[in-house]
Amino acid sequence: TFESIQSPKELFTVNSPSVTYTDDHIESKYVYRTTAVTKSADGKLTATPKETRYDFKVNRKVPRTGMMLVGWGGNNGSTVTAGILANRRGLVWDTKEGRQKANYYGSVIMGSTIKLGADAETNEEINIPFHDVLPMVHPNDIVVGGWDISSLNIAAAMDRAQVLEPTLKALVHKEMSLMKPLPSIYYPDFIAANQEDRADNVLPGSKASLAHVEQIRADIRNFKADNNLDKIIVLWTANTERFADIIPGVNDTADNLLKAIEQGHEEVSPSTVFSVACILEKTAFINGSPQNTFVPGAIQLAEKHDSFIGGDDFKSGQTKMKSALVDFLINAGIKLTSIASYNHLGNNDGKNLSSQKQFRSKEISKSNVVDDMVAANTVLYKKGEHPDHTVVIKYMPAVGDNKRALDEYYAEIFMGGHQTISIFNVCEDSLLASPLIIDLVLVAEMMTRIQWKTEGASEYKGFHSVLSILSYMLKAPLTPPGTPVVNALAKQRSALTNIFRACIGLQPESDMTLEHKLF
Ligand code: NAD
Repeated sequence: TFESIQSPKELFTVNSPSVTYTDDHIESKYVYRTTAVTKSADGKLTATPKETRYDFKVNRKVPRTGMMLVGWGGNNGSTVTAGILANRRGLVWDTKEGRQKANYYGSVIMGSTIKLGADAETNEEINIPFHDVLPMVHPNDIVVGGWDISSLNIAAAMDRAQVLEPTLKALVHKEMSLMKPLPSIYYPDFIAANQEDRADNVLPGSKASLAHVEQIRADIRNFKADNNLDKIIVLWTANTERFADIIPGVNDTADNLLKAIEQGHEEVSPSTVFSVACILEKTAFINGSPQNTFVPGAIQLAEKHDSFIGGDDFKSGQTKMKSALVDFLINAGIKLTSIASYNHLGNNDGKNLSSQKQFRSKEISKSNVVDDMVAANTVLYKKGEHPDHTVVIKYMPAVGDNKRALDEYYAEIFMGGHQTISIFNVCEDSLLASPLIIDLVLVAEMMTRIQWKTEGASEYKGFHSVLSILSYMLKAPLTPPGTPVVNALAKQRSALTNIFRACIGLQPESDMTLEHKLF
């Protein structure tokens, strides 16, 4: 119901001459402090503190927001939908372990806190929910819709997924049975042949076309109007596609890509067509799968239209552990020498990934996730030196959505000794991915309401089209062309928290706690 959607009450205000609150906005004057390093001819480095002044402006009006999922009838799509409904209705259900209440565990925005500061009198830490740092959309208020090449209604799709408890499913079944995915774009060459039997809800045409772009744009507009929404975020949680070849003249520039779509070129994937439709419709589009949806032409098109894009591939289980553990090992001065990662899973994602070309997309996205941490440690690794790294994925129907990830980390320690760490990580894949979908949508939506300018500039503008701030939730983070990729989980989280803090004029959290050390 529309009535339930309302702007949340703000939990705190910032008391600072640099921060102004108006009915519509929070405005902050912020000094961004970095260190500029120069190198002299004899190799000596000089570090110079540098200040850049930015003005930030945050729109306080929380919009009525819709989330449209491509692949709505999949395991993730049906699970996140049920999760939102259950939370919205405050559902409680019986399980063999007792009563279970709806929650948002696993969502960094809904389930974690940040330190606001210390109590003015006692110096005790004051922590607040991440969700309350800025005026964000509440996931309970998100209206869910989307597309799938399979026509099953979302309740039936939830049954097919075999993820949620029957007692919970019974409570949301009726409402979800009324949810029907819109027909989608299906170009069989891009996903595994074993998906063909579920493709009974497809738009005519098996190659890219402007008609497909126009249909998706119309779907977005209609969903917005039908549900009285201010804003839509679209997210790809459909099957992993094969990589598209990057071909000069086809997908290398924005104009060529549009031409290639018009001419029905076979190297334009369904996910790229969705991204183009969203970009033209000024709707943020996030890719939760590993394929190269954002070919150079798509990125250029997004820049041209000031539209937001983000990707690639949800970072839910194995890679999330990896980007935390490797960061820890290498920053502890331990020389990681190999990582062997094995997975087996039995859901439809696993079935699709049992096909070589689709597996290859996943292998690529899982492979580069430690590069930045290795490159940063010039003490342990020579230039170009890299730990061995192997990724294996096998389809094992019996384990269903309960994915297994077995990892062995092998490292060199003091004086030629060795450390072997073995991890056996079992997790319900869709229950890890669903809260990430929510985070991606909430943060992407928030970014559409933040503007900045350098001090003295007359016009405010938005962040760069490529939302690298979403990196924490993504395995192979897309960054603005020419800018570095950060995979280390802790750094990704501090970028997210500190950018949010900057928007309300608060310093980054330094963890120095001098107040507890200097007295
Ligand atoms: P799934 O196979 O259950 O769901 C995918 C859905 O997409 C299916 O219902 C399918 O019919 C639909 N589909 C395929 N092509 C489509 C198209 N062109 N348009 C619309 N719908 C289409 O898979 P899932 O477990 O929900 O995972 C979804 C994606 O997320 C996969 O690519 C997977 O690799 C990726 N991913 C998942 C996780 C995780 O679950 N933890 C982590 C990282 C990435």
